[in-house]
Amino acid sequence: MVMLLQCIVNGRETKKAIHLAREKVAKAINCKAKEIYFTSCGSESDNLAIKGICYKNKEKGNHIITSKIEHPGVLHTCETLERQGFEVTYLNVNSNGCISLYELENAIKQNTILISIMTANNEIGTIQPIKEIGKIAKKHNILFHTDSVQAIGNIKMDVEEMNIDLLSMSAHKFYGPKGVGALYVKEGVEFEKIQDGGHQERDKRAGTENIAGIVGLGEAIELAYKDFETYNKKLISLRDYYITQVEEKIPNVKLNGDRINRLPGNANISFEGVQSEELLYKLDEKGICASGGSACSTGNPSPSHVLMSLGIESKMAKGALRVTFGMENNKEDVDYLVENLSKIVYELRKEEN
Ligand SMILES: *Cc1c(COP(=O)(O)O)cnc(C)c1O
Repeated sequence: MVMLLQCIVNGRETKKAIHLAREKVAKAINCKAKEIYFTSCGSESDNLAIKGICYKNKEKGNHIITSKIEHPGVLHTCETLERQGFEVTYLNVNSNGCISLYELENAIKQNTILISIMTANNEIGTIQPIKEIGKIAKKHNILFHTDSVQAIGNIKMDVEEMNIDLLSMSAHKFYGPKGVGALYVKEGVEFEKIQDGGHQERDKRAGTENIAGIVGLGEAIELAYKDFETYNKKLISLRDYYITQVEEKIPNVKLNGDRINRLPGNANISFEGVQSEELLYKLDEKGICASGGSACSTGNPSPSHVLMSLGIESKMAKGALRVTFGMENNKEDVDYLVENLSKIVYELRKEEN
């Protein structure tokens, strides 16, 4: 009896905790709590959004529009759908990594059921014109999904104002725990579940909830939006200081992505005549942690699909270094980084010749 009572109380508390987290997420992106579905990660949210919409609407049409620079969570999902008979248009991006609204509108066909364009790119930081994409989607009565995994905590997202129907996020990208994500689906938008089992998450995502993760995600998103302006202003100033310092002190470099329209903490710069892996190795020796083409593709020697889509020369793509600034960084860190970077690049270039 005591055990049973305990169980009921815990069940009730758990439900309350999950609901509270759902409300916190909803507040951050301006939607209703019941429009939020918790998942295990950003990739799962992307899968659930895109497959869920495609399977539900396959009678209406089988055409999806996305871009060439999406995260594998979206790209590989689209490739799987292609093998299942769906048709996918992968939009080009310009040299700054931005899609063309004109090309997007031209790609729309009678059988288009979904547009999936990421809010901000994880490698080059470029932010897409989400509100304008939302307008186009609405005008043509097509559903719009955006992978906002990089944007949450760095860019203000308003799903109502931006006409977004589905939005993916992942807690560990905004200082929350790993192994938990969320998907927003606008009320009234029907989608198929992709995982069968119990009736959790209003029967859309079977499996016992990751309570600790969900509560952590809720706390993290609340914190991220508490000091939003100050935090992101600081990141922008660190990022711009780093970029100008590198351009001033190191010859033959090229900024990848848009100079202004980019994620506050992201700086991706190519160093001609050096290899990313060598740079990363030497920086690591100095206690500096950065990444090359893509964090998810370490060990993969070919230049990233994102950098290649920008049309930059392969020799520049191979020397790309992505630096991400965060909560704990300050101006001294940037000075230390630039000082070491200029020495390392100088030495590596000398070895090459
Ligand atoms: C990290 C990332 C993902 C994947 O998120 P996980 O939680 O690691 O699955 C998806 N999209 C973008 C843009 C990302 O940066």
